[in-house]
Amino acid sequence: MKICMIGAGYVGLVSAACFSEFGWTVTCVDKDENRSAELKAGRSPIYEPGLDALMERNMTAGRLTFTGELGPAVAGADVVFLAVGTPMRRGDGYADLSYVFSAVEEAAPHFDGFTVVTTKSTVPVGTSREIERRLKIKRPDADVAICSNPEFLREGSAIQDFTHPDRVLVGCDQARAREVMERLYKPLALRGSTVMFVDRESAELAKYAANAFLALKISFINEIADLCESIGADVQEVASAIGKDRRIGDKFLHPGPGYGGSCFPKDVSALIRTAREAKSPVSIIEQVERVNHERKLAMAVRIEAAAGGSVRDKTIAVLGVTFKPNTDDMRDAPSLVIVPMLQERGATVRACDPQGRQQAEPLLPGVIWCEGAQEAARDADVLVILTEWNEFRALDLEAVKATMAGNAVVDLRNVLDPEAALELGLSYQGMGRGKLASKNADNPRSRLKN
Ligand code: NAD
Repeated sequence: MKICMIGAGYVGLVSAACFSEFGWTVTCVDKDENRSAELKAGRSPIYEPGLDALMERNMTAGRLTFTGELGPAVAGADVVFLAVGTPMRRGDGYADLSYVFSAVEEAAPHFDGFTVVTTKSTVPVGTSREIERRLKIKRPDADVAICSNPEFLREGSAIQDFTHPDRVLVGCDQARAREVMERLYKPLALRGSTVMFVDRESAELAKYAANAFLALKISFINEIADLCESIGADVQEVASAIGKDRRIGDKFLHPGPGYGGSCFPKDVSALIRTAREAKSPVSIIEQVERVNHERKLAMAVRIEAAAGGSVRDKTIAVLGVTFKPNTDDMRDAPSLVIVPMLQERGATVRACDPQGRQQAEPLLPGVIWCEGAQEAARDADVLVILTEWNEFRALDLEAVKATMAGNAVVDLRNVLDPEAALELGLSYQGMGRGKLASKNADNPRSRLKN
């Protein structure tokens, strides 16, 4: 089976590498010349655990190739995937479909024989129909079928998610296209994965509904965390208790600085706009968007409070800037709101991130970049854990404390052991840990410098 993947980003590149691992012949096209040159040389332009080895194996076997030229990759392909970006459109919050439509129009002259054109990008309801309409004008003679195959992988565990999916979802209106898609995903079906066929509108909406629901779960536990702080409960215990209920589930019940990343903010925004346009507003999701925005601002205020009420002329050490661990992706990361707010209020920010520095540097001007946590903590008044990279879980708190000027730790991901921090005399603040407030106050070893 011959596959053309248009777009070699987090989704396109991982999907291309995984399809080639199934034994299919995959050509991955990216119009970004630097990106396609890197890929041709066998180097991944993104950080994703396991991706380098997967690429190398399949490139060596001749099943995976990269190019910047669309024509030859599209010609003769059984399936042409659209895996280009669908960012939030400036000004109105809708999904920007310009990359999707340009990719379709660039590919159109090259369709050759029966071709299934499939969106892997997250696209609003009606996009498959619109692609069909445009292709009928551009290539009335082309033998094409349009499918929707939204992708549910998560950055950081993308290969595992792609190869062991909770389900594969295909929106398809034609028997011939369904046969092709069944053949494509047979390697996963044979291993027991569910491959679901639904109509195209349902597939398109399901992706937005899934992301909006997960965003809702995050905002819900963030508000419960705040309530825990007000009434003296512990959100870890509450989340663990409710997560055991199979109707609720224990995933996405970790309080934090608000969701970010390449998908949730833009997909929540696009769903809200689609629903308003359909005169069927999703008022709960509108509230989620508002709560999440305010959450990020509240985190800066929380850090300010830990610094004694003002960060002016204070040094803040920020550990982790990517929107989550195991990725270098900075899109809509909470750090992009929190760090500039601290700087505007007069703080010097020293930061480190295991993989994100290169992408973060141009986005966070004025930050002093450090090699690791220990260096970032030097002379800091407040230490903030913003992304839960594993290496921060095992932080040597004693060494960190020795190098800091102050003693406040704000753990926005609840990765540290509060007891150990308090024992060392640090003033520790986690998320939703209401019981700690009194322990902090009673702690005889705490030397509150701030
Ligand atoms: P990305 O920005 O990382 O990658 C998109 C790539 O497409 C870029 O490299 C760009 O140069 C290339 N491109 C754009 N137009 C092109 C064209 N005409 N021809 C060839 N290449 C072109 O985006 P991403 O994070 O991979 O997301 C892609 C889509 O998948 C989005 O709709 C996103 O919502 C969805 N999605 C993303 C994730 C994720 O975790 N990143 C998960 C599920 C779904």
